[in-house]
Amino acid sequence: MAWRRWPVQVRHGPQMKDKIIKCQDCAQEFAWTIGEQEFYQQKDLKPPVRCPICRATHKAAADDNFRGKVLQS
Ligand SMILES: [Zn+2]
Repeated sequence: MAWRRWPVQVRHGPQMKDKIIKCQDCAQEFAWTIGEQEFYQQKDLKPPVRCPICRATHKAAADDNFRGKVLQS
């Protein structure tokens, strides 16, 4: 029963743990942490499809788009 050994200070249930997601852009696998999962749940967001690096790159590109023109899609 390995899952019983979860630290007591963790308030999440044993079913909640980091998820491994494969990045849609670079195919790199990354951990979607519990903290991020909670953040996404609170914001009612869909799970991320990109690794943090690609997300940062994408965000920078999106910011550039917003600065220059109206988003088309
Ligand atoms: Zn990536």
